[in-house]
Amino acid sequence: MTQTPPSEVEFAHKLHITTGVLVEVTPPDNVRRIYAQDFGTPEYWKALERQLNVWAKGFHDFLRNHSSQDLVCLNVVREEQDVCSKCHALWEPIADDDGQPYCANCGAIIKEGKP
Ligand SMILES: [Zn+2]
Repeated sequence: MTQTPPSEVEFAHKLHITTGVLVEVTPPDNVRRIYAQDFGTPEYWKALERQLNVWAKGFHDFLRNHSSQDLVCLNVVREEQDVCSKCHALWEPIADDDGQPYCANCGAIIKEGKP
């Protein structure tokens, strides 16, 4: 008679991964200021989006004709986040009644560090 192996316990740890790489364009300061609205209000964000869309269209034209002398910064930006090493869901440890932390998404028991 064969013996049934004990059920395998799933373990996980926090994994810091790259989730994307993009080029970020920073327009001149005056383009990113909205004076007519209070900061953070829906009207502010709407006005800022409208202003940035106008600037982006002009920036496209600049790339074509190279006549603008405005300072524009281009940065390569890496997007990162902490995820569960087991299921790769966003890192969200929770604890059971005994205080044992586990992954809120897959239920794997969390061990500190790499296995
Ligand atoms: Zn998980």
